[in-house]
Amino acid sequence: MNIIDGKKVSARVKSEVREEAAVLGQKGISVGLAVVIVGDNPASRVYVNNKKKACAEVGFESYEYALPAETTQDELLALVKKLNDDKKVNGILVQLPLPKHIDENAIINAISPDKDVDAFHPTNVGHIMIGDFSFLPCTPAGVMELIAETGIDVCGKNCVVIGRSNIVGKPMAMLLLHKNGTVTMTHSRTKDLASVTSQADILVAAVGKAGFVTADMIKPGAVVIDVGMNRNAEGKLCGDVDFDGCCEKAGYITPVPGGVGPMTIAMLMRNTLTAAKIQNGCKD
Ligand code: NAP
Repeated sequence: MNIIDGKKVSARVKSEVREEAAVLGQKGISVGLAVVIVGDNPASRVYVNNKKKACAEVGFESYEYALPAETTQDELLALVKKLNDDKKVNGILVQLPLPKHIDENAIINAISPDKDVDAFHPTNVGHIMIGDFSFLPCTPAGVMELIAETGIDVCGKNCVVIGRSNIVGKPMAMLLLHKNGTVTMTHSRTKDLASVTSQADILVAAVGKAGFVTADMIKPGAVVIDVGMNRNAEGKLCGDVDFDGCCEKAGYITPVPGGVGPMTIAMLMRNTLTAAKIQNGCKD
């Protein structure tokens, strides 16, 4: 069993981004990320703080817009429009979830695709589908980096993704497919899930249920990537995989915390850098 160290890989990605941002800085180009948070969801506040901290680490400017929970959809749309037009803002991130009275899709669709560093806009989703993309969705892109870290080639492997959300499961499957994996997507209606997952050379769990993947569900030697971020009864952060039960059987496994989570933020930094390069006409 080998533990894939997301902290180490994310530090490497951020250091590459920092170096490239410094090169842009020498050309007089600064990189800016706008982070919008609506309401006072404590988990969202932690994520936003972590993103601002990462911006500081890699030498980006970050602009926080913390709006009250009563903000109307029109007010939020007006802010997005203002940020779309703001030259010092290269990337726009609207922290989800939004309060229930705001239509998340309307907000995502209003973000300029060139500044959509989460890669949630339908234009960018389409590009990912075709395989011709500038921005990769941060969490699945981070998972691909972690798989690459194992040295295992995805090509021809049986890859199983548990979960089919627009932000994780679906793009995850597409990225594995682009690397020529043989991909199976599973979800809550999948029959006999364990018989599918136990065929997986590479298993990605994005379910949102603590300890959902147990040792009997994995193939000996499999790469097991845990996207889940859940709180157990004691309030401790834990993944979708029963780490203690699976770690001896898996070939490679990611921990929670310290696996996929740090990668998501590192990939957000990389996307923001890419946005700045494209907007300044210096994308190689
Ligand atoms: P989501 O939108 O709730 O999707 C969960 C998926 O799991 C759904 O497709 C659902 O199937 C499937 N599922 C639920 N119960 C199942 C079951 N019994 N068997 C098989 N599939 C089942 O969640 P998400 O946004 O994708 O997030 C998933 C997890 O990843 C969460 O813990 C979230 O916090 C975490 N996450 C982590 C990061 C990170 O940076 N590390 C980023 C994003 C998300 P149906 O579609 O049939 O309902």
